[in-house]
Amino acid sequence: MGKIRVAVNGYGTIGKRVAEAIMLQPDMELVGIAKTRPDYSVLLASRNGIPVYVPEERIRLFAEAGIKVSGTIEDMVKEADVVVDATPAGVGALYKPLYEHVGVKAIFQGGEKPDIVEASFNSYCNYEECIDKNYVRVVSCNTTGLLRLLCTLNSIGRIRKVRATIVRRAADPKEDKKGPINSIKPNPVTIPSHHGLDVKTVLKNIDIITTAVIVPTTLMHLHIVNVLFENPVRRDDVIDVLSRRKRIALINAELTGINSTAKIVEAARDLGRKRYDVPELVVWEDSIHVSGNEVILMQAVHQESIVVPENIDALRAVTGLVSRPEESIRITDQTLRIGVFQESFLSPNRNTLG
Ligand code: NAD
Repeated sequence: MGKIRVAVNGYGTIGKRVAEAIMLQPDMELVGIAKTRPDYSVLLASRNGIPVYVPEERIRLFAEAGIKVSGTIEDMVKEADVVVDATPAGVGALYKPLYEHVGVKAIFQGGEKPDIVEASFNSYCNYEECIDKNYVRVVSCNTTGLLRLLCTLNSIGRIRKVRATIVRRAADPKEDKKGPINSIKPNPVTIPSHHGLDVKTVLKNIDIITTAVIVPTTLMHLHIVNVLFENPVRRDDVIDVLSRRKRIALINAELTGINSTAKIVEAARDLGRKRYDVPELVVWEDSIHVSGNEVILMQAVHQESIVVPENIDALRAVTGLVSRPEESIRITDQTLRIGVFQESFLSPNRNTLG
């Protein structure tokens, strides 16, 4: 098989990051992006040479905004082997009939219901299950964070149950209409929240209950996770497995001063990360508390970028281009420079990354 031809439908927070990540892959080619309304981001994309596709009735509107249009969304879909659908939550389901009609595969995002796809996806957990599937969904940012952790910790022992509290960011930085701006809001008030149920779309038999609250911040989510193993585990083993995963940045707050989501973002800025993206799950080493069978820790999730590497791996899985998850993960991590966050702040006496 030659390069995978990928179209990105929806060019917002997730779509623009995934489109840029596709352009960095040696085995993928970006057919173009689709957008329904002109704005500065699509103007920039068009000026950077990315083909832009729009609904037929909007071609004139885009032309008036100075954006060169390469065709309709249907034209774009017909050119692709796979569509990454990054339209707003629920809109992807409305596009599925078009993808089916054209006979193109599609990767949907976490805002879509799991029943519109054959499988939900996480690179560390179930890459192989998604090989050659037609419709796959990359789970949401919070679920991706939980799954990365659990599918790493499960290498040191059998997990009996998980209880997690999710402190959610209220909105992405660009979303100036969302709140709350002065409240802590249970989301939902009822327990469990949907996040644990979403984890079960990938880890079907896990006993997990999550609760969630929204707080007035836009930077990142924070999770307080409690994992109960069948047997006692050692803190050193927890630290060892976490530090070997490139997509998990194990950060020592005391040694680095990175002790909040604001400092994570500042560190990402200092590293020159585009848009201060942190696609790695950040786990605070100092927070890891082990007592017999029980591990409690705190981790932070950069909602805007954590799912980007998963989308890239999902493309290789559904096309069957790469059958071994480690191989796809290696290419993705190398091209997106994942792991740099932890490497930059790792104290010299720690294990190097695997
Ligand atoms: P967004 O609103 O930032 O971007 C959506 C884009 O789709 C916008 O550019 C919009 O103009 C475009 N669009 C709207 N209607 C369209 C249509 N009918 N056809 C084509 N394009 C259309 O949304 P987002 O935050 O990128 O979310 C996309 C998906 O990713 C959702 O399922 C969401 O739940 C999921 N997700 C979001 C985040 C996050 O933190 N933002 C994290 C993980 C997953």
